[in-house]
Amino acid sequence: MQYPLPISKLIEGFMRLPGIGPKTAARLAFYVLDMKEDDVLDFAKALVNAKRELTYCSICHHITDTNPCRICEDTTRDKSIICVVQDTKDVIAMEKMKEYIGLYHVLQGAISPVDGIGPEDINIPDLLKRLQDETIQEVIIATNPNIEGEATAMYISRLIKPTGLKVTRIAHGLPVGGDLEYADEVTLSKAIEGRREL
Ligand SMILES: [Zn+2]
Repeated sequence: MQYPLPISKLIEGFMRLPGIGPKTAARLAFYVLDMKEDDVLDFAKALVNAKRELTYCSICHHITDTNPCRICEDTTRDKSIICVVQDTKDVIAMEKMKEYIGLYHVLQGAISPVDGIGPEDINIPDLLKRLQDETIQEVIIATNPNIEGEATAMYISRLIKPTGLKVTRIAHGLPVGGDLEYADEVTLSKAIEGRREL
């Protein structure tokens, strides 16, 4: 069926979003048509403003509307610890936990030779520059527990260790509330590897 052009355009727009196929896109487009005009305008403005007003922090590369970001500027945070993550969303997840009070460094990716992504393509050179600051004493590597994340963690730790800085890796293992018998082998072996004394 041929849609009128404005609807086709809207459907195409939704289809550019991750995880949205033609059917969902059409459903969303028709939903928008039924929305109040003010709500549609607010939504459109939110999209444009998010893109226009946000930038990446020049220190930690977290997404922000102020530069440096609020976390880097916060004087109550522990500036001796940097937690290295792959993505801005990881910072948000860590912040939700409300227990970590150090700083962050967002790599905006992970090393992946298959995809042609090397250390220079993500924010590793910048991290090394930051570590020259003598206030920093510990680097926590919180990249994802998959091949790319592990390769990135290994690469960074190899670079940092000779400098004498403390390098730690977050523990990976069994989810809280999970059952040992249902865990896959990799998760279980990581859980054993990351065991601690009681
Ligand atoms: Zn920052």
